[in-house]
Amino acid sequence: MPSPEAIVNAAELNEKCAVFAANIPDTESAARIVTTGLFRLQHRGQEGSGVVSSDGESLYHRRGRGLVTQVFDPEDFDIAKLPGSIAIGHNRYSTSNGNGNTLHYQPIIGNETPFALAHNGNIPDTSRLEAFLDSRGVSSKNMNDSEMMHTAIEQYVKCGAPLEEAVREVTPLFTGAYSLVLMDKDKVVALRDPKGVRPLSLAGYKNGYLVASETCAFTQDMRHIRDIKPGEEVVIDKNGFTSQQFAEGEQKLDIFEFVYFSRPDSHLLGKSVYKVRERFGEMLAEEFPRIKGDIVIDVPNSGLPAAHGFARASGIPKEVGLIKNTYSGRTFIDPGENIRAQKVREKLTPLPEVLAGQRVIVVDDSIVRGTTPREVVKMIRDAGAIEVHMLITSSPVKYPDFYGIDTPQQSKLLAARMSIDEMKQYISADSLHFLPYSRMIEATGLPEDAFSTSAFTGNYPIDIGRKKSEVIRI
Ligand code: AMP
Repeated sequence: MPSPEAIVNAAELNEKCAVFAANIPDTESAARIVTTGLFRLQHRGQEGSGVVSSDGESLYHRRGRGLVTQVFDPEDFDIAKLPGSIAIGHNRYSTSNGNGNTLHYQPIIGNETPFALAHNGNIPDTSRLEAFLDSRGVSSKNMNDSEMMHTAIEQYVKCGAPLEEAVREVTPLFTGAYSLVLMDKDKVVALRDPKGVRPLSLAGYKNGYLVASETCAFTQDMRHIRDIKPGEEVVIDKNGFTSQQFAEGEQKLDIFEFVYFSRPDSHLLGKSVYKVRERFGEMLAEEFPRIKGDIVIDVPNSGLPAAHGFARASGIPKEVGLIKNTYSGRTFIDPGENIRAQKVREKLTPLPEVLAGQRVIVVDDSIVRGTTPREVVKMIRDAGAIEVHMLITSSPVKYPDFYGIDTPQQSKLLAARMSIDEMKQYISADSLHFLPYSRMIEATGLPEDAFSTSAFTGNYPIDIGRKKSEVIRI
C-alpha cells in the first residue's frame, strides 16, 4: 500500500518553478534562446523542463524529465525541431509530492486549442476554478492548479476570444500566486498576479522581447527593461509589446525570494539579491557582537554572500569550511528525515584542515525542518571544531508556504515546534541566532508592505481559502 505521503491529489502539487518566454521576430530559433534562459534558471526547478515554439503556423513542443541540459541534449534532440521566432519554456521544481510524476510537465498545451501556458506559483485553493470548470461540464479531476488555469482559459479561446482576453476573463478565478507566460502561434502573453508574489521581468533583445522569472536569466546583451507589475498583463507580438492592468496591483513579493530562492546575481524590485544577502550578514554581526569565533564559514552556496558580509562587519576571517558536491541532487524534498540527512552528508564535506581547533561561526539562510543545520553542526564538530555557532539570515520559519515554495506542513517546521533554545539543543550548536524579522526587512531597503512575509508572520496576502484550517497561529 502506498504511504500516506505518496497519495496525492494532483491539485495539491506545489510548483516553485521557472518560466521564460521569447518573441524575437528576427530569429529563427526562439527555442534556443529559451533553453539558454531556462538553463540560467535551473536553480528554480530541476525535475523537468519543456519548451513550446511557434513558426507562425503551428506549435511544436518538447518536454521531459531532468535538467535542461538533459532534456535538450543535442545528442538526443535537435533543437531545430522547435522552429520559429516565438517560444516559451518552463523548469519544474521537484516537490515531495510531485517528484516522479511525469504527467505534469509544462508548458501545458491544450487538446482543443493551440495555445500553451507555463506557471510559476501556486493556487492554494482551487475551488473557484473547479466550480467554473464544473459549470462548463469539464471535470477537473486529476488536474493540478496550472492545468485548471489552462483549461479555464481554453473555455474562452475555443469561443474565439483572443488569448490575452481569454486570460483576463478568468484571472478572478486564480486565487493564488501566479507568474504566467502563455503563447499562441502569433504572440506571447505574460502576467503576474495582483500581489506579484513570484517575480517576473521583461527584457529587450534584438528586435524583440523576453520575459523571465528572474533577471539572472538575461545575458549581458539582453536589456533588462523592468519587472512586470503586479496585476499587469503584457502582450508581445511582432509589433512590440503592449501592457494593461487587468487588476489593481499591490506589490507583495515573497521575501523568501531574497532569503533563499532567487539567484544572487538577480535583481528583485530593483535590488541586488547578492547585496541584500551581504547586508543580512552585516546585520547579524551588528546584532550579535558578543559571539566569539576564530573563523566564519558559509553553508554553500546559500549562506555565502551573508558570510562575506558578516566577516567584513565583524573582522572575523571568512574561510571555506564545507565543500559542496556540485553534482549532488536536492536534499530538501525527500519526505524521509533519514534520507534527507544522508543526502546532506553526501552533499557537504567538512575540511578538518580549516575547522580543527577553531571556534566556528557558520552562516546559512534558513532553517525549515532542521535537517541541514543538525548535520552541518555535527560534521563541523567531527572535523575537530571546538565551538560551533550557527547564524541564520532570516527569522524563524513558523508557517507553511502556499504560494509555491513547498515548505512542508507546519507540524514539520522546527520553529513551529520549538523555542530557539530548544532548536539550539536539537542541532547541538553552542549558540543559534536568527536575524530579527525587522532587520531582515530593513536589509532589503524596501518597506515591509512590499512583501509577502507569510513564512515568518503567518500573514497570507492572498486568501488561502480552505488551507486556513492547516495553519495554527503561534
Ligand atoms: P532544513 O534542512 O529542512 O532545515 O532546510 C533548510 C535548508 O534548505 C537551508 O539550508 C536552505 O538553504 C534550504 N531551503 C530553504 N527553503 C527551501 C526550499 N523551499 N526548497 C529547497 N531548499 C530550501
